[in-house]
Amino acid sequence: MEGTDRKAEGPPADDPRRIRRYWRLGLGLSIAALAASAAYVAAMAAGGCRALAARVEPWAGAGLAGRGVVLAIFFAGFAIVGGPFEFAAGWWRERRYGVGREGPLAWLWRRAKAGAIALALAVCFFEGIYGLAEWIGGWWWLGAAAVAVAIEIALGYVFPTGILPLFYRMTRLEDPALEAEFARLAGRAGFDVEGVYRMELSGQTSKATAFLAGLGRTRRVIVSDTLLEDFTPGEIKGVFAHEIGHHAGRHVAIHLALGAAATTAALGAAALAVAALSGPLGFRGPADVANAPVIVGAAGAMMLAASPLLALASRATERAADRYALEATGDSSSFVTLMEKLARRNLSLKNPGRLAKALLFDHPPVAERIEMARRLEDRARQEDPGP
Ligand SMILES: [Zn+2]
Repeated sequence: MEGTDRKAEGPPADDPRRIRRYWRLGLGLSIAALAASAAYVAAMAAGGCRALAARVEPWAGAGLAGRGVVLAIFFAGFAIVGGPFEFAAGWWRERRYGVGREGPLAWLWRRAKAGAIALALAVCFFEGIYGLAEWIGGWWWLGAAAVAVAIEIALGYVFPTGILPLFYRMTRLEDPALEAEFARLAGRAGFDVEGVYRMELSGQTSKATAFLAGLGRTRRVIVSDTLLEDFTPGEIKGVFAHEIGHHAGRHVAIHLALGAAATTAALGAAALAVAALSGPLGFRGPADVANAPVIVGAAGAMMLAASPLLALASRATERAADRYALEATGDSSSFVTLMEKLARRNLSLKNPGRLAKALLFDHPPVAERIEMARRLEDRARQEDPGP
C-alpha cells in the first residue's frame, strides 16, 4: 500500500510527542466506538429488539430458534456500529504510525474470524440465559455467572491449541541453548510448561509480545517472532522469567477469581435492570429476548465500572512478576534494555498521567518498571558489595 506509506509518519521512533498522539488517537476512537455502541444498545432496548423479535417470531417462533435469530442479528449489529472505529484504530492507525504491516483485507479477514467466534459464543451464552430464566426465573443471573466462569475456564484450556492457531502460525521453539536456560529457570519454580512457542506476528505488525497461555496441560509460553528476531538471549530470558513469576504467584487463579466476581456483579446488575425496566419497556418477563439489549447494557456498564479495579489488580501482579524475574535472573541491565526495546517497538506511553494509568494500564508504565529494576539492583549491591 504505497499510498498509505506516503502518509505514514515514518518508522517507529522514540519521540514522546508522537507516541502521545498515537495514544490520543486510539483513545478518541475507543470512546467514539463506545458511544456508538451505547446508542445502538439504547435504541435496541427502547423498542428495536422488540420490533425485530416481532418480525422473526411469525416464521421462527418465540423459542430457541427464534431467539437465536434475534440474538444473532442484534450482536451482528455491533460490527456495523463499532466496525468503522475498530478498523480505524486497528488497521489505519497502526499503518499511519509505521507499526502495521498487513493489507486491509488481511486485517478484515482476521477480524471477521474473531467476530464470528465471539458472535457464536454470545448467542449460545444468551440462549443459556433464557433457558435459565425459564427454569429458575429471577435467579437466572446466578446460574449464568456460573456458566460464564465455566466458559472462561474452558476457553483458557483451548485458547493456545484451538484458537490462537486460527489467527497466527505457531511453531515450537527449537533453540537448545535457550531451552536449557528456560528449563533451569522453570525448574527452580516447579514450573511445568508444555513448551515455548514462537508466534508469527511479523507479517501483521512490528510490535512484540510474550505471554503465558493455557491451563493445565495446554499451558505454554508464547513469544512473538518480532521479539525473538532482535532481542538478546538475556532479554528473552527476562521475558520467560517474568512469565514464570506469574505462575509462581498463582496469578492466573487470582485473575480468574477477580474476573468471576466482576462477571457475577455484572450479571446481577443486568438482572436488576431487567426487573426494573420490564414494566416500562413491556418485557414478557426475564425470558423475553427483547430484553437482551438491557442485559448487554447493564452488564457492560458494570464491567466498564469494574475495569479500573481489575487493571489495578493486574498492575500489582505484573509488578510481582517483574520482581520475580529480576531476582531469578539477577540481570537487571537486560531487563532495562528489554523494557526500552519493547516500549520503542510497541509505541508504549512510558510515563502516563495518573488518571490515564488508573483507567487504561493493566501493566505498570515502562518508567516504573525500569525504576523498580534499578532500585532492586541498588539494594542487591548494598547487601552484597562484592570484592
Ligand atoms: Zn506479565
